[in-house]
Parts: sequence; C-alpha cells; structure tokens
Amino acid sequence: MVSSEYERRIAARFATFDQDGNGYIDREDFNVAAKALLAEFDVAARSDKGQALYAGAEAFWQGMAGMADRDGDQRITREEFVNGAVKRLRDNPDRFAEIARPFLHAALAIADTDGDGAATVEDTARVLRILGVGEDVAGASAAVLDADGRVGESEIVPAFARYFTVPE
Ligand code: CA
Ligand code: CA
Repeated sequence: MVSSEYERRIAARFATFDQDGNGYIDREDFNVAAKALLAEFDVAARSDKGQALYAGAEAFWQGMAGMADRDGDQRITREEFVNGAVKRLRDNPDRFAEIARPFLHAALAIADTDGDGAATVEDTARVLRILGVGEDVAGASAAVLDADGRVGESEIVPAFARYFTVPE
C-alpha cells in the first residue's frame, strides 16, 4: 500500500527507457531515442552532432547494462531494472548523472539550435517529449529554468538524475 506511488513511478521509468515498448530495455531502445531526437530537430545521423548523440546513447546503454543486466543477455528486464538499476541509482545518483551525461550533452547540443551554448525552454520540452520523460522532470526543469529561460547541462543532468533515481 505504502509503495503504490513508488511502484507507479518505477513502472513509468521503465516505460520511458523501453522506448519501443517490447517489454525489456536494450541497446535498440537507446538507438530509437537517438533517432527520434535527430528526426525531431532535422539533424543528420552522420553529422558531428548526430554521431555524438549515438555515441552518448551507446555509453548510456553500456552504463545501464553494467548496473542492471545481471545475466548478461544484453537485455534489462523489468525485474533486473527494479532490482538492479533502481536500487543502485538511488544509492548513487552521481553515477546516473555520469552515465547519462554524454547523451544529455549531445541532446542539448541538438536542441541548442542557434549554437549559443544553451537550449530554450521550448526546445528542451521537445527533447523531453521525444524521450517520453514524464511531467515530473519537466516540472523540475521548468523550476530551474525560470531564472533565465535557458537550459544548460548543469540544469538538465541533475533534473534527469532526480527523475530516474526515483526516491521512495
Ligand atoms: Ca525495448
Ligand atoms: Ca538481462
């Protein structure tokens, strides 16, 4: 009973990572997310920004697999996610920020359409929508963004870490 809200959030986080909805998280989910972001911002996969995003997606996947894929079959099941990733991320939010940072850095570079080093709130919202990230992280981001209306890595990485580490 006490954990129903917690379990709802865990289920939502799993669904966010399982981008293709086939019931497990694997490398393809990260490629799907990267491809969708590139399409949204009309950036070519072979461009520097596209290659950085795919490299970040691969690093993100490797980091998640290292924490959660206990049987080494290159798939993270829901059980592995709950028993591996969620607990370890909660114990060590900095580790999540570390594995997600290259992907988020590359995603922000793509959202930074005028190249001034930060993305607008609107363009960040497009990124979050494409990634299927829930309203909690969008709300957390909006809170920090109010200051100057721009989103940089120092704001988005902690917001993601908070979202995915799912405090009880
Ligand atoms: Ca999947
Ligand atoms: Ca596995």
